[in-house]
Amino acid sequence: MKFKISHFINLLIVVCFGLVPAVICQFFTEKPTSRHIHIRSFRYGKDPYVIRCNRGDTLLLTFSTDDTGHSFFLQEFDMDVKISPSSDEVTVFRTSDPTSKPVITKEVTLIAKHSGIYNYIISKSNYRCHVWCGPMHAFEQGKLILLPNTLLIFSLGSLIGIFFIWLIAIFKNVKQKNISFEEKEGYKDLLKGRSFLRKLITSRYTQATLTIITMVMIYIVILTSVFGTKVSGRNIGVLLMWAIWLFALVAVITPFFGRFWCTICPLPFFGDLIQRKSFFNPVKGKTKIYNNKFSGLFLKWPEWLKNDWPRLFVFLILATFSTTLVATPFVSGVTVIMLMVVPTLMSGIWELRAFCRYICPVSVFVGPFSRMSTLSLRNISQEACDQCKPHYCEKGNTSGWACPYGLNVGKIKENSDCGLCLECLRSCSYNNVSLYTRPFASEKGSRNLSEGWMTMASFTISIIYSILYLGPWPVVRDYVNIMDKHNWGLFGIYSLLMWTLVLVIVPGIIYFLSYAGIRLSKNNRSVKQVFLENAGSLLPFALMNWIAFVIPMLFVNVTFIKQSLSDPFGWGWDFFGTANTPWHQFIPQYIPWLQALAVLTGLYLSLRNIRRSAIVSELDPKNTLLLILPVSLFLAGVTSLMLLFFTN
Ligand code: SF4
Ligand code: SF4
Ligand code: SF4
Repeated sequence: MKFKISHFINLLIVVCFGLVPAVICQFFTEKPTSRHIHIRSFRYGKDPYVIRCNRGDTLLLTFSTDDTGHSFFLQEFDMDVKISPSSDEVTVFRTSDPTSKPVITKEVTLIAKHSGIYNYIISKSNYRCHVWCGPMHAFEQGKLILLPNTLLIFSLGSLIGIFFIWLIAIFKNVKQKNISFEEKEGYKDLLKGRSFLRKLITSRYTQATLTIITMVMIYIVILTSVFGTKVSGRNIGVLLMWAIWLFALVAVITPFFGRFWCTICPLPFFGDLIQRKSFFNPVKGKTKIYNNKFSGLFLKWPEWLKNDWPRLFVFLILATFSTTLVATPFVSGVTVIMLMVVPTLMSGIWELRAFCRYICPVSVFVGPFSRMSTLSLRNISQEACDQCKPHYCEKGNTSGWACPYGLNVGKIKENSDCGLCLECLRSCSYNNVSLYTRPFASEKGSRNLSEGWMTMASFTISIIYSILYLGPWPVVRDYVNIMDKHNWGLFGIYSLLMWTLVLVIVPGIIYFLSYAGIRLSKNNRSVKQVFLENAGSLLPFALMNWIAFVIPMLFVNVTFIKQSLSDPFGWGWDFFGTANTPWHQFIPQYIPWLQALAVLTGLYLSLRNIRRSAIVSELDPKNTLLLILPVSLFLAGVTSLMLLFFTN
């Protein structure tokens, strides 16, 4: 109970830090004026891409286009202005009722205020384009900022509040001497006394049913991406993958259920079938050290490649071409086909799930971030594992296959390697494996350099993607437009910059800050060790920044998902009568609030993990602070920039 009260008090402090300046700023509102603004549209942007005005201003908007037809879609102000290259008049539709008679005019009046309480809390809206104008149409956007920016001020105040409670915690916890965070602190056995749940979870039928569902989905993705419309916003394959699946994976599955996606992932299905020659039941026999009969060459994966570097490189290659993947359904479809074919071929050559363990780009995401999750698989008694001789979990038996990830449950201390395939729950004859719920973001640090680099890659790419896809800057998007503008030179610069940031610059900064912390605190710990701890502590922030990134990907596209479900190929079908549903974003006015909340939560958890990692140094409070201050200030700085980005 005491624990919960202290959390509540901390939350109250943070909210007060945000609320006080947010209320004060309301008294500094400028008098409303009237302003003329001309908005120029082009592939793929708006000029101006940011409109800042005072709350209550009257904006007199005129429009033009440099190339094809565009629109100025601003749902919060109930307007969708269609702009045509052949006329200086525009057609104004209402987003709330697009069937009502449009107004044809040369100038549109926008009163920059909201009704009631929203007038004080909604400060940022995005204007978008609702006329397909090319492959990167979905990213054409600009922003309208109403001053005073309550959200920005509230967020920055809260950030200071988080830093304040973090400072207090350093001095409080270090005084409480040797606070140790037990390996299974806060873990609760989910299956204890729940035999039905255990049966349901370990049933091969449950897992097979869910895998068949994801398999069907992946075939829909392949078929519609390859053969459907090239308009990615109307292609269900693209939307299933980049809006629904990405959101579900990032914001729901991984934070709460860890690598549960791997439990039902269809990618290794055919490979498993080739190796096992059985859909369900393990085949008795002997293959190398394993107690199952496996087919194929079953070679050992090269020792020098037994790390996270191969998958990091595959991930970076895909990340480099992410715009092409999202904007070109055919490329998306071919990539998914490759992701089905490669693991299948690899399983004929290398033992177990070599693709999952060393190559899978999805595991760059689900692996590290599963360490944040509230679900984990562990043994029940370490003693039983220590005394266990047959190690069925690792080597298999007639009840369960040998662990496809080559793990021994007795040695699992963190989530990232375990693909939650559930075999060990079936194979351990001592019933010594269970699923646990536990506090969010409870794993800290990183085990080795490749894992640390993988974490820093996720951290960096979440920021790069936010700027690239959610930012208002058309010039940034030009750097990745190799589709219709064929900007290969700019793309080369972008690729080089991205790889350098991910592999050199950000790790270099973290290394330098770790070194600075050691020097400041006159600590004799190795720089590498502190560097690995600091790299691992970026995880919560990285995950939360990813969540902030995927929120608009889903919320903005909800209507398009409905439309595309009814007409999956974009061929004019209408299965459910929703193919022509007018575009409506889901709660666009709250998206910046949700993003700010996600980023601040990430900062709080990352700072907490940095502090917890430092406590093992057994320094006094002042030197503990000096050890972690450089990297913490860096993180706070990055958070401020992301808050500025998402809310302003
Ligand atoms: S590691 Fe990759 S391919 Fe393997 S199960 Fe997980 S997501 Fe699927
Ligand atoms: S989980 Fe079971 S099979 Fe594996 S080492 Fe522990 S007791 Fe043995
Ligand atoms: S440890 Fe168990 S659940 Fe995890 S991958 Fe191995 S067999 Fe599957």
